[in-house]
Amino acid sequence: MKCALVTGGSRGIGRAICLKLAALGYHVLVNYKSNIDEANKTLVAIQDQGGSGELMPFDVADREQIKQTLGGWIEANKDKYIEILINNAGIRDDSLMAWMAEEQWDNVLKTNLDSFFHVTRLVLNSMLSHKYGRIVNIVSLSGLKGLAGQTNYSAAKAGVIGATKALAQEIARQGITVNAIAPGFIKTDMTEGLDEKELKMIIPARRFGLPEEVAHAAAFLASPDASYITGQVLSVNGGLYS
Ligand code: NAP
Repeated sequence: MKCALVTGGSRGIGRAICLKLAALGYHVLVNYKSNIDEANKTLVAIQDQGGSGELMPFDVADREQIKQTLGGWIEANKDKYIEILINNAGIRDDSLMAWMAEEQWDNVLKTNLDSFFHVTRLVLNSMLSHKYGRIVNIVSLSGLKGLAGQTNYSAAKAGVIGATKALAQEIARQGITVNAIAPGFIKTDMTEGLDEKELKMIIPARRFGLPEEVAHAAAFLASPDASYITGQVLSVNGGLYS
């Protein structure tokens, strides 16, 4: 059984990626933090399209939960291995730096950056022993360009971009690729409060993107066809920044 783990698969971009990978024949492990209703909707949608999956709740900001839940699954499923890892779970908590609370910095860094290390490290061993794997990290335009009001989020996403490039070089010989996708403005709960009418005027494509448009890019980078692409950051942003 080919397995794919998508962190933050209950909603938004993560859900679209779960559906896409399930359609490609992967058994999808749908991670989420707390929104079981939305996670179940993802699972039902996977099953409705004839695919298979299971829920795997854990907080990506909590290394002990990751060890217990994900580590426990790996230990109990020695006959299977996670061939694709999509590090997608993320939060933003914006504030100008002068007013940013320590918790805002810590939470955003733990959820968006530390999670990359703790989740990926667990999944890496079996990819190395199978000499095949695909790791796709969902970063952001904010990590490439830096956005005012997002020093925490920009730092976290830029950190993941650096880690993507470094890890790609460490494991390319073992048939494992590591890439990142940097979305611009995508229609999800995360962008719900934003003024789309005004913001779309600065986007060359004149619209926000859809989660499915990010999912297509993720599925390509996660496919065997992308075997000679590693350490790259692919922007999916309607031309907003290049
Ligand atoms: P979203 O709609 O807010 O969904 C976030 C997902 O992440 C949910 O499934 C949520 O689970 C999960 N999550 C959050 N914190 C978690 C934690 N500590 N542990 C486990 N799961 C957690 O977000 P989105 O817009 O789809 O964003 C997905 C990724 O794309 C994020 O990394 C984000 O930074 C990045 N991104 C988004 C945009 C955009 O315009 N939307 C742009 C650039 C980058 P629950 O349902 O349980 O809360």
